[in-house]
Amino acid sequence: MAFENGRWFDGERFTLDKFYVVDGRMTRNKPEHVGATFDLQGRYVLPGLIDAHNHNFQNGPFAAFSNQRTLKAGVYHSVQMCSRPDQTMAFAGFLQNPGNVEVLFTDACFSGSDGHPLGIALASSVQMGEEISVEEVQQTYDPVDTVEELDALWPALLERTPRLIKVILINSERRAFELQDQSTFGYRGLDPAVAREIVRRAHHAGARVAAHVDSAADFALAVDIGADIIAHLPGYRIAENMTAEDYRISDAALKAAADRKTIVITTAGAARHATQRRPERAEALKAMQIENLTRLIAAGVPLAMGSDEVMGSVVDEIVYVDALGVMPREQLLQLSTAGTARAMFPDRIMGKFVEGAEATFNVYSVNPLEDLNALRSIYFGVQSGTVLASR
Ligand SMILES: [Zn+2]
Repeated sequence: MAFENGRWFDGERFTLDKFYVVDGRMTRNKPEHVGATFDLQGRYVLPGLIDAHNHNFQNGPFAAFSNQRTLKAGVYHSVQMCSRPDQTMAFAGFLQNPGNVEVLFTDACFSGSDGHPLGIALASSVQMGEEISVEEVQQTYDPVDTVEELDALWPALLERTPRLIKVILINSERRAFELQDQSTFGYRGLDPAVAREIVRRAHHAGARVAAHVDSAADFALAVDIGADIIAHLPGYRIAENMTAEDYRISDAALKAAADRKTIVITTAGAARHATQRRPERAEALKAMQIENLTRLIAAGVPLAMGSDEVMGSVVDEIVYVDALGVMPREQLLQLSTAGTARAMFPDRIMGKFVEGAEATFNVYSVNPLEDLNALRSIYFGVQSGTVLASR
């Protein structure tokens, strides 16, 4: 296929260029036989979007609900940050075919037996009027409280041939206090010693570790135990009994994250939920997000765009971060494509228009550098060299 008269994003601007797609890859070399030619009429072409953090494909019905909605947003890759293979294997195979979102599932999601996501699952089951037991929820993640329990679990974990493992850290600096506080049941994280041991073993097994963090202390702990990815920017909420200051990343943690090239997934738009509940804290929350993001960028810590927004998409996150005003829009688009691809799929050539890159891209009628809402309306998309139905 030939794509003519398009303006292709080169990391800074959209420039007139011509590309061919051969066997699902980008090339500038004209193949012997061109089967179809697309005249893009000056439209704007951006590599396909990637959601580095979501949960909307973690069970079959939700995956079926999310698949077309996600593609419509121009998102072709999604990382599901708290899944287990036995929960997804019945449908995960379908998603490997073109025309579906390619999902990277975590192979394990470790938290305390009294930890997140237990509380959310119990609360939403009450809301939906279907009783679900603690034990039932515990089968959807990997509860572990001690290193001895981890010893017992680990052989079965290795049988999953893990590539990506999630660990949950929540208010680790207040852990002793929160263990005494019944209201935090289901919302706690891992014992830090257990989390450290998981990272050590995961690296030995060749898997990367993504850490859920909440406070700035969790961020520092995640860097210290060697997590490869930090799944949230601290400050998407201000917990009870805490202030915005508890979410300011320390200078030491910032430097350590930069030295170790720890990837930080933004999920900044998740603050909208906290802001709805506590509007009086919205300004402090937003100011802290701006401060943390600005310092991470200045320190050279690699970022990835992830929404953690099960009813939305990473486009919402891109629009939210744009409004924070922490980086020029061309840098934001580069982060949303090449940067996030490199962070989440480091072994692949994707997210940029270079010779041999995966041919996954979106064509827009409006220049996203001038109007970011252009991202909400795709003229057509191409996934691994397959043209998806245009609208
Ligand atoms: Zn999440």
